[in-house]
Parts: sequence; C-alpha cells; structure tokens
Amino acid sequence: MNIHQYYPIDVVNGPGTRCTLFVSGCVHQCPGCYNKSTWRLNSGVLFTQAMEDQIIADLNDTKIPRQGLTLSGGDPLHPQNVPAVLKLVKRVRAECAGKDIWLWTGYLLAELSQQQQEVVDLINVLIDGKFVQALADPALVWRGSSNQIVYKLR
Ligand code: SF4
Repeated sequence: MNIHQYYPIDVVNGPGTRCTLFVSGCVHQCPGCYNKSTWRLNSGVLFTQAMEDQIIADLNDTKIPRQGLTLSGGDPLHPQNVPAVLKLVKRVRAECAGKDIWLWTGYLLAELSQQQQEVVDLINVLIDGKFVQALADPALVWRGSSNQIVYKLR
C-alpha cells in the first residue's frame, strides 16, 4: 500500500485529537473530489512496517493523548489497500486499548466485499459513499454530501 500523508496529530478529520492516515488509490472518480492527487495506487510513498509501528506508538503516547485513528484517502477500502489496512486495524484493536477508528470510503456499506467487511467489523465509525457535488453541503458534519452516511458501528 502507498500513502499520501500521515498526520500524527490531527484535530480536523474526526472527533478529538487523532492520528490520521491518507492512503493512495481510489477508483470512484467523484466529480469535485478535493483529493484527486490520491487516486493513483502508486502515488505517494510506500507504507512501511516502520510507519505502522509509529502509528501504534503515537496512539499509545500518553504525553499527547489521541482519541483514535482516522483512515481516509484515496480509499482505505480499495481492494489493494485492504490487506495493509486490515493488518493495521487489527493491531490498533490488539495494542491500543480504548482508541476508536474512523474510516472514510467511497464504497457503500451494503456493497462491501467480504474482505472489506472484515476491516469494517473492526472499526467504530464508517462514513460511506461517493462525494456527490449536487448534494454537497458545508453544514454537514463529517461528510461532504448528504448521500453519505455516518455509521456508528460500535
Ligand atoms: S471517494 Fe473520496 S477520494 Fe475517491 S474520488 Fe470520491 S471524493 Fe475523491
């Protein structure tokens, strides 16, 4: 998997102070996408074991408490990203007690493959669906257009 950005301290993409990872790769091509540079799977830089270890360490850093991890992009549920994302969310569940995981995807919850669903089974909040310009509303919280749904899963 490649990534575009990792923010060890982020207060914008989800509630509280968070670690946020923007992955590379998205097939949805939504008109008006604000993250077009992330569409290509091979854009950005390789997500390494050292980066994964750093995220776990940051989530467990008691000097700067984080509420949890945000996964965005690009699309963390792009089929080619799922193995690396699944490994990461499994580690957060096993090693970062009390931290929540929020994930933004262009896929619909009802249409996920078994592998994508495995990731979703481990997260707290999923925001699903493509960005639809005609339904865009800056007043919406945690989503860009009203077709997208915020699912509180646990
Ligand atoms: S799903 Fe998100 S990243 Fe992908 S094209 Fe749509 S708005 Fe852009």
